[in-house]
Amino acid sequence: MTEAQVITLGCRLNAFESEIMRGHSQTAGLKNTVIINTCAVTAEAERSTRKSIRRARKQNPTAQIIVTGRAAQLNPQAYAAMAEVDRVMGNAEKLELESYLGTDAVVVADIMEVRETAPHLIQGFDDQTRAFVQIQQGCDHRCTFCIIPFARGNNRSLAPGVIVDQVRRLVENGYKEVVFTGVDICSYGSDLAGQPRLGDLVRRLLKAVPELPRLRLSSLDPAFVDDALLDVLASNPRLMPHLHLSLQAMDDMVLKRMKRRHSRSQAIALARRARELRPDVVFGADLIAGFPTETDAMFENTLDAVDELQLLHLHVFPYSERQGTPAVRMPAVAPDIRKQRASRLRQRGDQISAIYMSGQIGTTSQVLVEKGNRGLNPYFAPVRLSGDHPAGALVDVRISGLVAGELTGSPE
Ligand code: SF4
Repeated sequence: MTEAQVITLGCRLNAFESEIMRGHSQTAGLKNTVIINTCAVTAEAERSTRKSIRRARKQNPTAQIIVTGRAAQLNPQAYAAMAEVDRVMGNAEKLELESYLGTDAVVVADIMEVRETAPHLIQGFDDQTRAFVQIQQGCDHRCTFCIIPFARGNNRSLAPGVIVDQVRRLVENGYKEVVFTGVDICSYGSDLAGQPRLGDLVRRLLKAVPELPRLRLSSLDPAFVDDALLDVLASNPRLMPHLHLSLQAMDDMVLKRMKRRHSRSQAIALARRARELRPDVVFGADLIAGFPTETDAMFENTLDAVDELQLLHLHVFPYSERQGTPAVRMPAVAPDIRKQRASRLRQRGDQISAIYMSGQIGTTSQVLVEKGNRGLNPYFAPVRLSGDHPAGALVDVRISGLVAGELTGSPE
């Protein structure tokens, strides 16, 4: 093995950070090294992290194995104790070059002490046509099921000018779509001078980088979507008409017990308003099935909301206990019921998605080509197009069919 290999587990934010880590490991001259950038959102994720570590060791018996990311931050000693692991690095340390120059077995600081987000400028991604740009880190909220703030610290935002520079660089390197990511992007700017909101940043970015064709946003907290963001959604087609809402549930009692900041009616009002302003907007959502104390009736409220909001892109998780969170102490729903509810939510989401996709037949939409003549349209729907097109091309495609959950079509 020559260059260090970085294995990314979990979310887009991790994909972004892995690029920075790859750069640092190259600068530090690390060879014969596998760095595993972990994610610890659920117990399931943690299990698969351990599996990935073992697999990496099996495939690279002589390599140095470094484990970092959220799982490592939360539980450094447990990972350090694994026979397969040589070093453990914290979530802040993984973004610092010095960590790659040192040899300490465990380098993990207290994340709640970290106040700065270093302005990491990245050039692009190895094999992706979309670039993920991290605009903030951490979270000031304390949802009762979530361990992330303990692994990621409080909200820290990057200055707008730094983000604009970063996006410019990505566009110069050929990227056609940028996705703003973070742990809680709706809290963007609350820690900066003048307290700019996410909508202000989006407006500024689209104005400052007119060559960027597409900007997409990752999960939004329905309680904190600001008016400026809705204004841009209404007026600027370069902001993709696809909003992913961090709903988690749509029953008021469950939302309260989760310590979320929105109510069912607020989330519905937000979706209606967004649709009035941008009639073609589509919604995705994160949902947790079988949160502690959730009754059948409470669950039905969440299930109904999938119809009511016409949620297309669902990320459904059966509730999974995270030790150290308040929800662990609440009366649990049986695991098989959590699973059944999760599968009912997924089924409902799939039905709505199928109806929506069929409705796309006969329309034209612009596809950003990824690998193998497949790509995504502005609504985040997968499209397979005929003919040869280079990865990264933006092609207007006449949609003619729907095969195995994928739209098909030919360039106009
Ligand atoms: S908003 Fe809630 S779920 Fe999201 S990262 Fe913060 S604490 Fe976790």
